[in-house]
Amino acid sequence: MLEDMNEKCAVVGIYGHQEASKLAYFSLHSLQHRGQEAAGISSSDGKKLHTIKNRGLVMRVFNERKLETLSGSSAVGHTRYSTAGDDSILDAQPVFARYDLGEMAIVHNGNLTNAEEVRNKLIEKGAIFQTFMDTENLIHLIAKSEKEKLIDRIIDAVHRIEGAFSLVFLSRSKMFAMRDRHGFRPLSLGKLPNGGYIVASETCAFDLVGAEYIRDVRPGELLVFSEGKEPESIQVFEPTPKHCIFEYVYFARPDSMVFGQSVYQTRKNMGKELAKVQPVEADVVIPVPDGGVPAAIGYAQESGIPYEMGIMRNHYIGRTFIEPTQEMRDLKVKMKLSPMPNVIAGKRVIVIDDSIVRGTTSKRIVRMLKEAGAKEVHMRVSSPPTTDPCFYGVDTPDKDKLIAANMTLEEIRVYIEADSLAYLDESSLLRSVNATEDNYCTACFTGKYIV
Ligand code: AMP
Repeated sequence: MLEDMNEKCAVVGIYGHQEASKLAYFSLHSLQHRGQEAAGISSSDGKKLHTIKNRGLVMRVFNERKLETLSGSSAVGHTRYSTAGDDSILDAQPVFARYDLGEMAIVHNGNLTNAEEVRNKLIEKGAIFQTFMDTENLIHLIAKSEKEKLIDRIIDAVHRIEGAFSLVFLSRSKMFAMRDRHGFRPLSLGKLPNGGYIVASETCAFDLVGAEYIRDVRPGELLVFSEGKEPESIQVFEPTPKHCIFEYVYFARPDSMVFGQSVYQTRKNMGKELAKVQPVEADVVIPVPDGGVPAAIGYAQESGIPYEMGIMRNHYIGRTFIEPTQEMRDLKVKMKLSPMPNVIAGKRVIVIDDSIVRGTTSKRIVRMLKEAGAKEVHMRVSSPPTTDPCFYGVDTPDKDKLIAANMTLEEIRVYIEADSLAYLDESSLLRSVNATEDNYCTACFTGKYIV
């Protein structure tokens, strides 16, 4: 079985700017929340591609000297998040290759669902793979395509892959950005202040480098960036949008625009809807930081119950999901979140989180709040029960580890030791993100898979 190596990642591409790799580097900083395992940048100086990648945070992988070696006016970058613990830096991106047309680098966010099948066919024909990444399939498909021009080879290659992909390709003279036909993962296009273009997983990268948001790369669209030209658009696939609703629930940064809407606003809407459909009498509303903050603000505004900061988060500890054993996860939650007894003691507390996955965080939090003197703890979750794993690029554990797939609501409430527990229902969630048609993927809450 191929390891899922392209989960929860960020991609960025810069084209037509003298300091392309520096802008890519700054952008990766603002996209760090999408992946902390590894980071990398490839740049092109027109004659040659240069690549630096390694395990660790963006800040650790790069320094000024290294960035200087990434010369040229175009660059692509990537941050990777993966729970499959392969230590090899080969599994960091960009994936770089030399082939008959020259050199190319690829960055990928998403998960290819037919990766194993494609890889086996390639291996039967004599291909040799260096990594477990599904992205490496693309390199082979492009290199082996019988088309003459790179652009035709890319189009050829993307016809053979299925699943979720937001991709940026860099050749010596061009850059290409592409989204799968469903537009599962986000990818936006912006204009740099002193000429040139940027594409990135989230628009928070644009704000950092002073770029202006133009629009999203459309589902099924390939954008071609060539010197001295406006980006050329080719609609490779008929678009059938199925945007990942979990980007709004948890994944994206609140200051980003994703799928054309403010993440902060949609999260606040979820909190407001939650207050309408799952009210409870209480003295304070507190968030589980940072994920639960916008929804808790929305809940407080709608219910009129005061919003307070009842839990402090230590920002110097990585995300708890990374740890492979349950014992380590428990310990990390404890290190990461501490209660504020002066806010909580003697109060009836509504605590809001964006999601419950294994139940580790909620259980620990309820206990922590009770130990800090809370009279009652009412857990409210601003998304529906997470019942099914994601195959399109969000890192969720197998079904047997998802608490909502294995326990009833009441059993979960008892397990997390809360006085009450309630989730947002699917239709309220869809209302919160202003879904007008069936254009979101909600498989993690419904088990309704598209591909
Ligand atoms: P758990 O402790 O397993 O129930 O996880 C729930 C917590 O993890 C919540 O506080 C969420 O904000 C957060 N979370 C949800 N989905 C993910 C994910 N894919 N990766 C990392 N953290 C997540």
